Amino acid sequence: MLTYDVLIVGSGGAGLYAALKSRMEEDLQVAVLTKVYPTRSHTGAAQGGVNAALANKDATDTWQDHWFDTVKGSDYLADQDAAELMCREAPEVIREMEHWGCPFDRTEEGKIAQRPFGGASKIRACYAADKIGHVMLHTLYEQGIRRGVNYFNEWMTLSLLHDGQRCLGVNALDIRSGKLQTIQAKAVILATGGYGRVYWNRTSNAYGNTGDGVALAYRAGLPLKDIEFVQFHPTGLRRTGILMSEGARGEGGYLLNALGERFMSRYAPEKMELGPRDMVSRAIETEVREGRGGPDGEVFLDLVHLGKERILERLPQIRELCCGFEGVDPLEEPIPIKPTAHYSMGGISTDINGLTPIEGVYAAGESGCVSVHGANRLGGNSLLDILVFGRRAGNHATEYARQTDIQPMLQNPLAPAETCIKALMDGESSETIADIRRDLGNLMAKKAGIYRNAADLTEGQAGLAELKARYKRLKIKDKSQAFNTELTTALELGNLLDLAEIVVEGALVRQESRGSHYREDFPQRNDKDWLVHTVATRGRDERPVLHFEPVKITQFQPEARTY
Ligand SMILES: Cc1cc2nc3c(=O)[nH]c(=O)nc-3n(C[C@H](O)[C@H](O)[C@H](O)COP(=O)(O)OP(=O)(O)OC[C@H]3O[C@@H](n4cnc5c(N)ncnc54)[C@H](O)[C@@H]3O)c2cc1C
Repeated sequence: MLTYDVLIVGSGGAGLYAALKSRMEEDLQVAVLTKVYPTRSHTGAAQGGVNAALANKDATDTWQDHWFDTVKGSDYLADQDAAELMCREAPEVIREMEHWGCPFDRTEEGKIAQRPFGGASKIRACYAADKIGHVMLHTLYEQGIRRGVNYFNEWMTLSLLHDGQRCLGVNALDIRSGKLQTIQAKAVILATGGYGRVYWNRTSNAYGNTGDGVALAYRAGLPLKDIEFVQFHPTGLRRTGILMSEGARGEGGYLLNALGERFMSRYAPEKMELGPRDMVSRAIETEVREGRGGPDGEVFLDLVHLGKERILERLPQIRELCCGFEGVDPLEEPIPIKPTAHYSMGGISTDINGLTPIEGVYAAGESGCVSVHGANRLGGNSLLDILVFGRRAGNHATEYARQTDIQPMLQNPLAPAETCIKALMDGESSETIADIRRDLGNLMAKKAGIYRNAADLTEGQAGLAELKARYKRLKIKDKSQAFNTELTTALELGNLLDLAEIVVEGALVRQESRGSHYREDFPQRNDKDWLVHTVATRGRDERPVLHFEPVKITQFQPEARTY
């Protein structure tokens, strides 16, 4: 049986940073299991920037300002001790990345350049044109190879194995051969990214962001936190949902409605286009609902006034994506955009070292929830989160692995994975995965999207029960072993359905509006009853059971949130 000291599931920024930290101890055996090639992970798509109070552009910036902005941005749902840690450690991780060769853009004096970002009181986002995620991911991958991390590419993890107290390892499918394998490990770090694909047809996320790690942790009995909070980014391309980075507004882009008005003056008169994402997305939806959008429910991101030189230097990828996928050249005309599901604030519940209630099992990055983003993440804080908490999880898992022996494996550990695959192979329905997935995306966008209310969410519950029943009957027609993508997409769909159910349950129960979660029937934030984290575990009937935990408030008392 394959055996490792530290096994990391996922090769985005969080996973690769954790792996690198674990391999700093050269006698430890460290492996990364990943569904796609490491450099294809969604981190590579991040465009705009990563926050750290380096004060290179604005000498008055401090980590305390960053901390306050993060907590305010979270609509006071972030745990303030965790947010403090992230903001304090930010300059250090950015410098570490710099020393490893990450090519940040520079100021005239040669310091790391910074640009303004939404919801931030100071200029704080470090960037590399509009490809920051790409350069970060490549830097981490290179360093991992240099240090001898083992990579299992195109391996899909199906289940987490533990004995109720301690980590044992995982079951995974080698997609290339179709073989199921158990991998034993003292410590497992889940770093599988977000579940934005729950909104299948309207998301900026990669196809692989199906929340696998979150769903498999849930099935293994681990608690999930704040799953109902999913961020809609204001500027996705009209047809595809592909992201037009916040960097575009950071560079001075305008948002215009179909009448040509800079409508943000009605919603965030001070910050205008650089209001936080939840508010800007709702402002766009409101403009469209009130008849000031374009014929397809779009509004416009106007960059024309920035001029050719600036667009080509600072936003080259934005221009390319827009020309290629929308047929519109931002040098000449405004970009048609709609809000797009973008980021999962919720995830596997962890402490500040990424540890879950099972010893040796960790989660980091978008699949984890510490929580630093609360009800709404600020732009540039996710890339920071994956570095800070990827690193912490890596360090802690390494220490744990040093002190622990490999535990005896369960008898017949592959059984649950085999049963699940067999059920899919033996189904009876002629329906396709694509049909169920499309219906899921439409249902979630309509019933649990930017605006929510009890009637819609209740219909969402019923709709999901139906989709789950359809899924249970699904039959995989492709019986081949090698690269059976029909099987892998079916397994992903199972994960999405579980997570969609928790989004809807949490959204229905939470009778208030906070951050990304907006209830038309409860439009106010309600700190008296709802300043709490939603924690979901899997009940006996396989449905989510919710309970609530207090938010850690150490410094900033909740205030009205205006921009
Ligand atoms: C288009 C876009 C632009 C963004 N821009 C910014 C930005 O400018 N600034 C910012 O701060 N944030 C940005 N974000 C958010 C940020 O990029 C992500 O939150 C972050 O990169 C997530 O990193 P991660 O390491 O947690 O996961 P990911 O990078 O999503 O990686 C997940 C990994 O898990 C693996 N995996 C998944 N399931 C399995 C499985 N079952 N078995 C094995 N492996 C599995 C995948 O192969 C992948 O390697 C952006 C996000 C998007 C979508």
